[in-house]
Amino acid sequence: MTDTPITVKTPARIHATAEVSPKAVIGAGTSIWHYVQIREGAVLGENCIVGKDVYIDFDVKVGNNVKIQNGSYLYHGLTVEDGVFIGPRAVFTNDVYPRAINPDGALKGNDDWQVGPITIRYGASIGTGAIIIPNVTVGRFALVAAGAVVNRSVPDHGLVAGVPARLIGYVCKCGRRMIQRDDDYFCPTCNWSFHPEE
Ligand SMILES: [Zn+2]
Repeated sequence: MTDTPITVKTPARIHATAEVSPKAVIGAGTSIWHYVQIREGAVLGENCIVGKDVYIDFDVKVGNNVKIQNGSYLYHGLTVEDGVFIGPRAVFTNDVYPRAINPDGALKGNDDWQVGPITIRYGASIGTGAIIIPNVTVGRFALVAAGAVVNRSVPDHGLVAGVPARLIGYVCKCGRRMIQRDDDYFCPTCNWSFHPEE
């Protein structure tokens, strides 16, 4: 016996039913479950968990220690930083002006639309069934409530809910809602205090 923890880097575990492009990069220790599709150019970091039926589009970037729950769709233009939680059936959109056809009636091609990027910053959480609209950044340790439709950026530690989502408070790194004290917020669980930017 030894008191020193032993770190063993395991290779990625990919279920036989998952379809992972040979041009995707999957970090060590990452688990990819049943019927996941990961497209070319996607990069996933280490120790991520990708649940059943998740779709990760081409060139999507995902950091380390990210949990993506069942049935979420991560479209092109998305960047997910380390330590992010994505609940089941969350959708990250990318088409700013969604149309199948141009004004002349012709089917739109790859050059006929523009990608609106989305960034989910370190430690943030996206609730079940949330939808993120293009050109949005979700701040560090922010929390998007279940079912929210987020069409504007969320500040660090911000708690947003509703359709469209609005800022209703702040959350701690531990995920608990913080209590306002004058201009500051503090966590009753951690006693950690936070001063919002604006
Ligand atoms: Zn806390």
